[in-house]
Amino acid sequence: MILFIGDGMSVGTVTGVRIWKGQKDGFTGEESVLEYDKFPHFGYSKTFNTNSQVPDSAGTATAYLTGVKTKRRVLGLDAGINVGDCASTFGHEVDSILKMVKNNGMPVGIVTTTRITHASPGGCYSHVPERDWEADTELPQEAVANGCKDIARQMVEDNDIDVMMGGGRYRFYMESQTDPDTGLPGARKDKDLIAEWQQKYQNRASAEYITKRQQLLDLDIENTDYLLGLFSFSEINFDIERTPDEPTLAEMTEVAIKILQKKSKNSGGRYFLFVEGGRVDHGHHFTEAKHAITDGLALEVAIAKAKQLTTSNTLMVLSSDHGHTMSFAGYPKRGNPIFGKIFEDAFKLPYTTLGYYTGRNAYTHLMPTFTLKKHRTDITNVDTEANEYEQQSFVPSVYETHGGEDVAIFATGPWSHLIHSVHEQHYITHVMMFAGCVGDYFDTCRDSPYISGALTDKDADVPARFRAKSQGQPPVPTESSASLPSPLWQTIFTVVLLWKFTVKTLIE
Ligand SMILES: [Zn+2]
Repeated sequence: MILFIGDGMSVGTVTGVRIWKGQKDGFTGEESVLEYDKFPHFGYSKTFNTNSQVPDSAGTATAYLTGVKTKRRVLGLDAGINVGDCASTFGHEVDSILKMVKNNGMPVGIVTTTRITHASPGGCYSHVPERDWEADTELPQEAVANGCKDIARQMVEDNDIDVMMGGGRYRFYMESQTDPDTGLPGARKDKDLIAEWQQKYQNRASAEYITKRQQLLDLDIENTDYLLGLFSFSEINFDIERTPDEPTLAEMTEVAIKILQKKSKNSGGRYFLFVEGGRVDHGHHFTEAKHAITDGLALEVAIAKAKQLTTSNTLMVLSSDHGHTMSFAGYPKRGNPIFGKIFEDAFKLPYTTLGYYTGRNAYTHLMPTFTLKKHRTDITNVDTEANEYEQQSFVPSVYETHGGEDVAIFATGPWSHLIHSVHEQHYITHVMMFAGCVGDYFDTCRDSPYISGALTDKDADVPARFRAKSQGQPPVPTESSASLPSPLWQTIFTVVLLWKFTVKTLIE
């Protein structure tokens, strides 16, 4: 099974990726076909968190990876906990599909373009009531006192993940160490987790730690059983700005699949891989639609590579964790550049096809100075197709926000027809659990005539707690501070600005 996630890849983003795929090769673009457009089954995912109409990537990762919806900012814990409160977490842990698959003796992997301790990949292996607890120095006193572990430490100490690739080296180094590439210090005070990972597998000579693209391309896959690839100090750069040392998402995906295929020879060819195009989301937050869409295309290339390397016996699901506020507007002519302009608005000024409801390039630009403008900036002489162009937005916000609309689910392979309608986001895990015969459906699958032969004797020894796992208590409906408060200045500034704008509009 392979689960692909485009972080923040809204339906509008998918359309943009499709058009850009054609336009970059000189076609009009609208008629292009994405690899996952060819998947036979399709549905919508309702993304809300238990306490938030518009979700974040942590609560949603918990939903689509564990089968349990939870609160914003929470990873691998059900909604009965208080956000940021270590003491409230014990007994509320929920296992991810990655852990369920591993517990059934099959190999597993994670590939992402973000820090590997970021919310989406973190949902595969950690249990924290606050997604920012990525290194020990980020744990509050209460968490240390009550024995909660940071995300990076959980990844290395509490898991046995065969393949892990992404960015975010500094959460693994100590403050007293320097990163070999950047010369910058690490984020930890307690221990060197890279060394700990190497030690953990030292008796398995086949464990490799790599930091450069060339090492990945030269990897001896036949002789590599465990792989940790951390290709950047923090996030891997956007695809159109990658350095020669940073691999593409497709290159990482290819190596991951090959290692997992090799290792799954003893588990009936079954494995689980999580692949995330994690920076689609960041492009949107910066209102840089080109960064979002080109990273979305890099994910599509990875999916095409995965299709090539697998058979129709592989369940592949592509979805997103949440939407964004990017809109796709106006009546641009067929083949109009997707990052181009439309002529013209009510005041005879051009605007871009893609724009944002929230974001920093609004009537005022919040960076670097807070200058209030009366009118939308005239972009007649602005190159809106430049990589770093920031599309305009309506509501000034330091970072563009997520959107609350449904996102798409594309599926192909065994049991992919279970994706067929408007689904709750956590249903995605249940489909994978059923298809993989793990977790809640372990016993159901064993008895199924359709799955005969799929299970090994090893599965019979799986502890009962992994076979039919209770999903804990029903969510507690009330909870105090679920989200981090915005900085006070931002709130005041936004209110004042909107008030001024509204009043001026009314009286002018
Ligand atoms: Zn985001």
